[in-house]
Amino acid sequence: MPAYQLRCVCSAVNLVSVGQAGGTLACQACGKILDIPKLRNFHLMEMEEATVRSPVNAGWGFPQGFMLFGIVIAVASFTLAGVLAVPAGSEINSELIRSNVDAAPIAEVYKAWIFFASSGVLRPSTIDEELAIRRTVLGGSGAQLLRLIGVIGMIVAAIGLGLSLKPSRRSSHNATTKRALV
Ligand SMILES: [Zn+2]
Repeated sequence: MPAYQLRCVCSAVNLVSVGQAGGTLACQACGKILDIPKLRNFHLMEMEEATVRSPVNAGWGFPQGFMLFGIVIAVASFTLAGVLAVPAGSEINSELIRSNVDAAPIAEVYKAWIFFASSGVLRPSTIDEELAIRRTVLGGSGAQLLRLIGVIGMIVAAIGLGLSLKPSRRSSHNATTKRALV
């Protein structure tokens, strides 16, 4: 939360936040009780230099970087795992084939069997099939490992989120307490 400069008659600068609007404050230098302006007059005060100078630092600290890192890892891993795990071709419905064979007249089955026997079902696999086989082999262990990394990424992101939420709640007092906490 931005800190505003409340100048005392002794020329000392006291930092106040929006949450203190309308209240009073004892000057840090001389102890004089100062009236903190109402919220609508806050814009008349100068903002604290550190608040003005480093809005990026205030928003993007280590926790936020930590969180972003985790999210990137999680998203990348889950995406890659999804690509690896997806079956390359549609599954063969063996039940349907079996029932069709059962229902077909024996002469039909014999004809079909002769056709396969003469043409041969064995042939070199196409590039697509070769890739599919590799993907399935990789998909088993690779996708599982990637999902695990993805979960770790999510945990890292959650820790980052937790870290980034904690200090921002306390920072409402003033910049001095924030610096002391860090
Ligand atoms: Zn004073």
